[in-house]
Amino acid sequence: MKTLDIDKLIRSNISRLKPYSSARSEFTGEGAVFLDANENPNNTLYNRYPDPLQWNLKRKIAKMKGVEPGMIFLGNGSDEAIDLLIRAFCQPGKDKILSVDPTYGMYKVCADINEVEYNEVLLTNDFQPDIEQLMQEADSNTKLLFLCSPNNPTANDFSEEAIVEILNRFKNLVVLDEAYIDFSNRESFLTKLAEYQNLVILQTFSKAWGLAGIRLGMCFADKRVISVMNKIKYPYNVNSTTLRIAAEALENKNTHNGWVEEIIKERKRLVTALPEYSQIINVYPSDANFILVKVKSPELLYKHLVGEGIIVRDRSKVSLCDGCLRITVGRPEENDKLLKALAEFEKTL
Ligand code: PMP
Repeated sequence: MKTLDIDKLIRSNISRLKPYSSARSEFTGEGAVFLDANENPNNTLYNRYPDPLQWNLKRKIAKMKGVEPGMIFLGNGSDEAIDLLIRAFCQPGKDKILSVDPTYGMYKVCADINEVEYNEVLLTNDFQPDIEQLMQEADSNTKLLFLCSPNNPTANDFSEEAIVEILNRFKNLVVLDEAYIDFSNRESFLTKLAEYQNLVILQTFSKAWGLAGIRLGMCFADKRVISVMNKIKYPYNVNSTTLRIAAEALENKNTHNGWVEEIIKERKRLVTALPEYSQIINVYPSDANFILVKVKSPELLYKHLVGEGIIVRDRSKVSLCDGCLRITVGRPEENDKLLKALAEFEKTL
């Protein structure tokens, strides 16, 4: 088991912080008449503040994920968790963050906003983390190491052995972003939380659950990490509508499973169909709900697709992704449109 003195990692001002105490978190027991939070007493369905710690939903998620409710943080998308982890553990101007390149852009943006030094190590040519380089780059001020697997925009999973080796060798917190884990064959690292106190896992309702619009992200970690995130978050960071819709979705796990199955089936179809087009140079293996493809004329093809009303992401200027477009797997009929537009584009050349 890898232990870590998490309390020592926390920024000293955050350790000392006396957090805001919201009205709703100050009582225990069953209330019937709430005169504590200056709300409007008339029932609009939304006249009451939500539970600041979202215990009902956390209990449901805990059961499904096989973790304790106290090991869960819920936020306004996983983007909130990324920002809070940086604010909790990284002192601006002193501490550092390490990640790989290319990867999800918000780690760097949040580091920059918080004035925390961000360093990145290029992935290997097969899009795996370069462990030796990462370890060389890390020092005692490197508080967080972000890994995204399946990785955005490369779409592949990092090997389990690589993630485990990083967890063993990196001294501070490893934040493993599993936003796309439902589309992968790899088992989630949630089962490894008991073994690695330095492991923090991010997941989200925005992808496989089909709920990007409600903004709900999950963070799973040692209770001491979760409690410092709770200490600095906005008191009512997840709203009542979001809590209700997420709880309903959890009751319909079959819908989620059906979508995942269909998206994976469509991914396979696209991965088989795309190389047939002369425009496509390479279709990279995908463990996510999107595919990275290297094409001959990224800008022209991108513009052509926009002209057809099809929006993909131009990643051709990103490290190691020269000439690449990132294509999200759509509904079967949308994927048909994409393939048709590609065929038409080739006729224009
Ligand atoms: N992590 C990764 C790897 C992502 O690609 C995204 C969204 N594009 C997020 C996190 C953000 O998720 P959320 O909607 O939960 O903020």
